[in-house]
Amino acid sequence: MSDSANPFESLQSQIDDAASVLGLDDDLVTRLKHPERVLETNLTVELDDGSLEQFRAFRSQFNGDRGPYKGGIRYHPQVSRDEVKALSGWMVYKTAIVDIPFGGGKGGIVIDPTAYSTSELERVTRAFAVELRPFIGEDRDIPAPDVNTGQREMNWIKDTYETLEHTTEPGVITGKSVDSGGSEGRVEATGRSTVIAAREAFEYLEKDLEGATVAVQGYGNAGWIAAKLIDEMGATVVAASDSSGGIYNPDGFDPVAAKDHKNETGALVDFEGSEEKLTNEEVLTLDVDLLIPAALENAIDAELATDVQADVISEAANGPLTPEADRILTDRDVFVIPDILANAGGVTVSYFEWVQNRQRFYWTEERVNDELEAIIVEAFDSLVETLETHDIENPRTAAYVVSIQRVADAFEKSGSFP
Ligand code: GLU
Repeated sequence: MSDSANPFESLQSQIDDAASVLGLDDDLVTRLKHPERVLETNLTVELDDGSLEQFRAFRSQFNGDRGPYKGGIRYHPQVSRDEVKALSGWMVYKTAIVDIPFGGGKGGIVIDPTAYSTSELERVTRAFAVELRPFIGEDRDIPAPDVNTGQREMNWIKDTYETLEHTTEPGVITGKSVDSGGSEGRVEATGRSTVIAAREAFEYLEKDLEGATVAVQGYGNAGWIAAKLIDEMGATVVAASDSSGGIYNPDGFDPVAAKDHKNETGALVDFEGSEEKLTNEEVLTLDVDLLIPAALENAIDAELATDVQADVISEAANGPLTPEADRILTDRDVFVIPDILANAGGVTVSYFEWVQNRQRFYWTEERVNDELEAIIVEAFDSLVETLETHDIENPRTAAYVVSIQRVADAFEKSGSFP
């Protein structure tokens, strides 16, 4: 990851671009650009050897005009206050573009989870849940998984919250395992929306997805599911990377076999279906029809953007392009499906999980996937309509125009208190 852009400044410039199309008042735009509150806390946790360690943790509640704050919690050594603020803001505009009744929030702990045992991670997670308890709740703020967190962590947070509150409230958190109140289809949802959005973009651009070549940067939950599903749609996945490096086969490879190899060995490199090893940058600049960045922020900066050869980019990661890279790619006519739409499947199925939790009535995977499909297609259509009616070149700006208008309407129609 390059650190060429501060993600919070990237978010603010994306909001400015859309606000100028809408001609919004400056004081409203200022509100849309800043979080309502940020919790910063130091968790003191006992390690297995009896020593104590402190972990810095954040939860940013960016905007609640459209509903409870909603967004994941990530565990990563590079988590920072500005990153969490940015990610929480992106959640506001993500929930708005898919029109689900949530605001935006995000949390993170500064930790390298690979360096700790399961019981240490459980204590860290439960310590954070204790800190979060007064701020979260199914009508207040609903955390979820993000980078390096998953069902296990969500189950621990739910259990801590319910134990302390002497209640059962599974809707306090989403992304739980199915036997702890999670939803069918939630794990696959981010990768699924990434490829549904890509399919819609190909159709809009009158390009054929059948036989299209695809490169995927990042082979975690979002990246590898996107690779698997796009392969099932008839495209050819030719390259992928993880932190160990990239793999390449011009004739394509089986994304599931690549994932099995990664599960067995801990890394993609040396996968037998690969013809050639590539660097992460070579994967990002490969001559393919579709590029799916599925790792961290700022993967593509201005310098790399000039070398990108893909025609379409579907952003499975949050914030993978710096604003400068985004401008360069728009000028070069690369169609970028913005993160707030492409990866919105995760939070959309989180919404379905929350609805199921509140109704105590659970859906089939087929129903989850059908409802997700409808929401992503509708959001893509609203983006295209705005692109055309406002004569906007950058699809990201069009997405923000749709979503900012929804947030601004919710704020203005409720009035402010006091
Ligand atoms: N962390 C995911 C995202 O960035 C999912 C958030 C959620 O499900 O609330 O969209």
